Amino acid sequence: MGRPAGSARGFKQRPSTYRLSIAPTGRGRCRKCHKAISKGAPRIEICAFVRPGRSTVLLRCVACIDTAFADAVLATHSSSERVPADAALNSSEAVHEIRDTITRLASRAKREAQDTAV
Ligand SMILES: [Zn+2]
Repeated sequence: MGRPAGSARGFKQRPSTYRLSIAPTGRGRCRKCHKAISKGAPRIEICAFVRPGRSTVLLRCVACIDTAFADAVLATHSSSERVPADAALNSSEAVHEIRDTITRLASRAKREAQDTAV
């Protein structure tokens, strides 16, 4: 309310962190397509920094992993293998597919950036 937005807050923005998990309920919605993520389905949790000591968790369904998203994930975790995953998800096949998708899309983003640079 009447406070200056953005730069005047006096702290640095921090990058979001990511986590792979299984939806514990069917109530969570994907931030991108707004569809409910069904219970038991794999999903990506986005832990977005709000201010020191305060963050918010957003969700994204596996179908909505796109180039920009994969790039953002790897900007934080540097390799899809290093994105933490729930124990329940780690023992399933889905975790490999998600990691592969992130790696594949992010390397494509990198190639496109190089292409436009020349
Ligand atoms: Zn989605």
